[in-house]
Amino acid sequence: MTHETCTITYTVRPESHGDQESEKVEGERRRVIKMSELLNVESIFGEKVFTITKMKERLPKKVFQEVRRVMEQGGELSMATADVVAKAMKDWAVENGATHYTHWFQPLTGITAEKHDSFVSHPDDEGKMLMEFSGKELIKGEPDASSFPSGGLRATFEARGYTAWDITSPAFLKESGCGTILCIPTAFCSYTGEALDKKTPLLRSMEALSEQALRIVRLFGDEDATKVTASVGPEQEYFLVDKDLYMQRKDLMFAGRTLFGALPPKGQEMEDHYFGVIKERVGAYMKDLNIELWKLGVTAKTQHNEVAPAQHELAPIYETANIAVDHNQLVMETMKRVAYKHDLRCLLHEKPYKGVNGSGKHDNWSITTDTGVNLLDPGNTPNKNIRFLLILACIMKAVDTHADLLRQSASDVGNDHRLGANEAPPAIISIFLGDQLEDVVKQLVETGDAAKVKQGGKLETGVSTLPDFEKDATDRNRTSPFAFTGNKFEFRMVGSADSIASPNTTLNAIVAEAFCEAADRIEAAEDKEVAIHDLIKEYMTKHQRIVFNGNGYSDEWVAEAERRGLPNIKSMVEAASTLTTEKAVKLFEKFGIFTKVELESREEIIYETYAKTINIEALTMIDMAGKDIIPAVAAYAGDLANSILAVKEAGATAAAQVEVLNEVDGLLAEAKKALNILKEVEAKASVIEDVKAQAFYYKDTVREAMDALRAPIDELEMIVDGTIWPIPTYGDLMFEV
Ligand code: ADP
Ligand code: MG
Repeated sequence: MTHETCTITYTVRPESHGDQESEKVEGERRRVIKMSELLNVESIFGEKVFTITKMKERLPKKVFQEVRRVMEQGGELSMATADVVAKAMKDWAVENGATHYTHWFQPLTGITAEKHDSFVSHPDDEGKMLMEFSGKELIKGEPDASSFPSGGLRATFEARGYTAWDITSPAFLKESGCGTILCIPTAFCSYTGEALDKKTPLLRSMEALSEQALRIVRLFGDEDATKVTASVGPEQEYFLVDKDLYMQRKDLMFAGRTLFGALPPKGQEMEDHYFGVIKERVGAYMKDLNIELWKLGVTAKTQHNEVAPAQHELAPIYETANIAVDHNQLVMETMKRVAYKHDLRCLLHEKPYKGVNGSGKHDNWSITTDTGVNLLDPGNTPNKNIRFLLILACIMKAVDTHADLLRQSASDVGNDHRLGANEAPPAIISIFLGDQLEDVVKQLVETGDAAKVKQGGKLETGVSTLPDFEKDATDRNRTSPFAFTGNKFEFRMVGSADSIASPNTTLNAIVAEAFCEAADRIEAAEDKEVAIHDLIKEYMTKHQRIVFNGNGYSDEWVAEAERRGLPNIKSMVEAASTLTTEKAVKLFEKFGIFTKVELESREEIIYETYAKTINIEALTMIDMAGKDIIPAVAAYAGDLANSILAVKEAGATAAAQVEVLNEVDGLLAEAKKALNILKEVEAKASVIEDVKAQAFYYKDTVREAMDALRAPIDELEMIVDGTIWPIPTYGDLMFEV
């Protein structure tokens, strides 16, 4: 028999204050633990991934070397090599229970897509079938693309789309109700080569950034680096809700957020949830989630409770942008899947509950050479680190020049409830540098030289048994959308439900452009040192307005940003056209990241997506208000009226009941009127033909009508008998997890 159990021996000692109970249990105790209870994270990590190590073990040396070369330097695998890789991959997958494979891709829906094909092949004469998978099948797929958003790029009569293996992201096994599926990460393009997905432009942007960043490091004599990679660590926020309660809320089921709901008596004001003790049920969920992610090779690292009740966060360790994007998709999928097992549902929506902290995704981004140098590491004396200062100046220029694009890249329908809505954060892009760097920039702008650098000093705890700390020179700022945090930038605007592909594509692109322009000038200069110095001063002076270290959530900042001329684009639909400005087309075409046609199609998809989403929300509200809430309140009003009659007949005044009835009656009438208006505008919206006009109509008119319906219903929730309210309340949803 194998070791299915092990015995752990531990000693129980009396507590130092000698309490009777403790003394009684002194002595050795044994606890038998089943091996299956012991979690060997090292051995399960990457279990479901066809890792480089597995390739090395299973592929002939030459083939492996070719794969490695293509992974690192690009190029194409020969068909013979692809066949060998496919067979090894299939054998490994089948040994691990796989029956199917899929090209796993990221269409413009923001989520992933898969179509399964089994390895089953045509039986031979004797009826014997062999599981097969060819190099051709590995490298290229041809899914019918007609039902994915393409923004007019691909007419249905040319429905053909191609998926192509992204060799830089490892294949993995996904287990679900369908069994085990071998997933091959792929890019998705149209017959004519336009990107129909989020991965293709991301990969293009990574190449552009690498090329331009290399020019910058070469200016400083680095001849060794051959590649510069963007690394990304996304912190993912989410809410959990009990399955049974979820099932009673059509809004959560259809729209992923509540469309009605009054605030509970207790919210997040006590600040007792953030980093609070994790509830047992949530803890069990997190444990399973980690295990599933580790098996998929995702380095789930940090978990904690977030600000709102039932809100949590998971952060993995950062990795290459491309893999981080794929992994973030897996994190989101796995969060949802594991929730099912725990009779929970995971809400990734940016604003599931009105008036309660929303969910974002902090996109931590840095750039590193293949020789291991993080180009965003300022060192202890950033004022003397000229390479860092040049890079910083370029990033300031990039973010200031393309603040509109960066903001656009963080927009999705749900994020409109966070950015630029009444609650923080605002939709204005600014950079937080912290005291130390801000001071360095100031000196450079004022004098062209930064002689001094502020140091952090010591943090004295004032307790003799606690150590004193060396303080960072810069405190954290939680209100900045784009904050420098030590050796990376943290782009905090991104929405929790969104793919992180667009934000990183945009970041890579705008920084590549700034690097390119800087390198063009410096390379052409006679005295490079002087040119670098001048350029740092010039860029920092010109783009200093983008730096803001204060409270980004304050009203003063909104006014100040306006004075500085920084864009404040309040919604996803208003942000969409930033993709097709002359400036944007020039940027993306220059580096081959998007063609003008691709950008136009993306703009169109944004309008379509917005209109469709708000349409679903409006119809859900109409359904809930018309079929559930208004009838329940009407019945309640009837009961109240009957009880008033009875009370009056008995000789009392029923004054309180009359007051309640009048209030209910007034709000009910208001709700009914608002419902009629919503139905009307919804019907009008659905027939508008121009997608842009339609999206704006949904934003300006339909959403207003939705708010007008919500207001009296939320008020009614506060005054009618709780037992007749037909749907679970915010209190139920947030506190019963
Ligand atoms: P927090 O911002 O919550 O304090 P951390 O700063 O420790 O947390 O890290 C948040 C995320 O940033 C993690 O995913 C981490 O791996 C990632 N991260 C840390 N260093 C870098 C880096 N150099 N480049 C990109 N991401 C990084
Ligand atoms: Mg963070």
